[in-house]
Amino acid sequence: MDNKVNKQPKYIFVTGGVVSSLGKGIISSSLANLLIARGFRVTIQKFDPYINIDPGTLNPYEHGECYVTVDGHEADLDLGHYERFTNIRTTRANNVTTGRIYQSVIDKERRGDYLGKTVQIVPHITDEIKRNVKQLGNTCEFDFIITEIGGVVGDIESLPFLEAVRQLRWELGRDSLVVHLTYVPFIAAAKELKTKPTQHSVKKLQELGIQPDILVLRTEHEITPDARRKIALFCNVAPDAVVQSIDLPSIYEVPVKMHEQHLDDIVLRLTGCDTSGEPHMAPWMNFLDKMHHADKPVTIGLVGKYVELQDAYKSIDEALFQAATYAGRRLDLRLIHSEKLTDSNAEEMLREMDGVIIAPGFGHRGIEGKFAALRWCREHDIPTFGICLGMQCMVIEFARNVLGLSEANSTEMNPPTPHKVIDLMEEQKSISNMGGTMRLGAYDCRLRPGSKAAEAYGRELVSERHRHRFEFNDDYRTSFEEAGMQCVGENPDTHLVEVVEIPCKRWFVGTQYHPEYSSTVLSPNPLFISFVDAAIKFRDEKIKNINP
Ligand code: GLN
Repeated sequence: MDNKVNKQPKYIFVTGGVVSSLGKGIISSSLANLLIARGFRVTIQKFDPYINIDPGTLNPYEHGECYVTVDGHEADLDLGHYERFTNIRTTRANNVTTGRIYQSVIDKERRGDYLGKTVQIVPHITDEIKRNVKQLGNTCEFDFIITEIGGVVGDIESLPFLEAVRQLRWELGRDSLVVHLTYVPFIAAAKELKTKPTQHSVKKLQELGIQPDILVLRTEHEITPDARRKIALFCNVAPDAVVQSIDLPSIYEVPVKMHEQHLDDIVLRLTGCDTSGEPHMAPWMNFLDKMHHADKPVTIGLVGKYVELQDAYKSIDEALFQAATYAGRRLDLRLIHSEKLTDSNAEEMLREMDGVIIAPGFGHRGIEGKFAALRWCREHDIPTFGICLGMQCMVIEFARNVLGLSEANSTEMNPPTPHKVIDLMEEQKSISNMGGTMRLGAYDCRLRPGSKAAEAYGRELVSERHRHRFEFNDDYRTSFEEAGMQCVGENPDTHLVEVVEIPCKRWFVGTQYHPEYSSTVLSPNPLFISFVDAAIKFRDEKIKNINP
């Protein structure tokens, strides 16, 4: 395609108005998905207007899941959507916060880079934002850089970012455009869709000197042609550039709905790109087709302490959904509160599960419930998958109930424990800062031939992402292996244990790493596929035993 390679990349800014949580991340991801399907090279970046350096120190109540990039950045969960929709890896450069911008400006000020000038929001902070926006574009690796601006127009925090967008629009002209996402509420008593909040939010953007080129309207009801015309007229936007984004049963249908309304064509037209041809969507449509035909369920229990938060285990939910869909099953995901689980109710809470995942996490809250779940699953040979803290719990439960080390624990939960089967890594012992100091990002792992993990991946050397401080204590490796829990994955350089499994069980595997982060729609993670397959097999066996 002639509009590639070494040409000025096109910058698409995605802003939001009226309320938060409208799904700017999904719209950005869907647009990227369509442009990639047309052969363009695309990346998406998120600018978050909060002062934290990154979301790594935020708890899930504040910010849902913390996503981790291959280069070890603790990132906003929208980066997970970007990767799942585009199949392209993100890095530290794809997520920038106000904190990072200020930190960099203040460092420059201390170095004397501003040559005695007064350092101000405009131009110094806005210049730093612009420099960061253009960083990925300067690599010449992309035709389109989609930049999502977190927050809502009108927030005090967003102002410097929107001022930077205004300046960039001015400088880049046709090589840029603004997509503004708003909400169109339906007033049930009047049976009417209301366009006023959208008009106000566009006015707010215009006051800041930004004219949106495309409006995406989030709605729970079909937007009438009348409402669409009205919005176009009052907001200075071409009528065909007013696109609706109606609630859908699955986020993975959004790219298709956007394409039906020509969002990709409009973006190409407005940025002066070639609009001929159609996106190659066959692999994506194949996934959707499987999703639409997945009638029979597979029931997976996710044991964790944040079950009331829908985004706390986002990447795990999505990885499971992808694996179940490819297996032709409907994911019936049950969130099980680890604080409510005990040895005496484990059977009642878990007996309907075809497979159980023990969630990652930090701190001791709910930990005993995870041990109870693991004991029941291990003794009843339920397909079980432990991720990060979940894997560490597998090790502790095994130590307590099989090796007879009743006080075995992780030093995270009980520092003076006599049996530190999970212990702090040596290099972590001197660290006092909490932010960005864990073992983070992708590391290689060598898998033992013949293990369930190696069979799942179909190869012996894999690379997956980490986010933890504690590790399997190698002093206990022989005792575990002799008793039946094998250390089947280890880091080739440090020999840290990365994967454990009990080979005589149907599927009982724990990973110190987080395989969920690398699972995408077009490239689902093999361990999730293998786990869900084991759960389906187990379900079918149970059904056969009831109706032989
Ligand atoms: N809290 C554990 C550790 O730091 C596990 C972390 C996790 O589950 N991501 O090692």
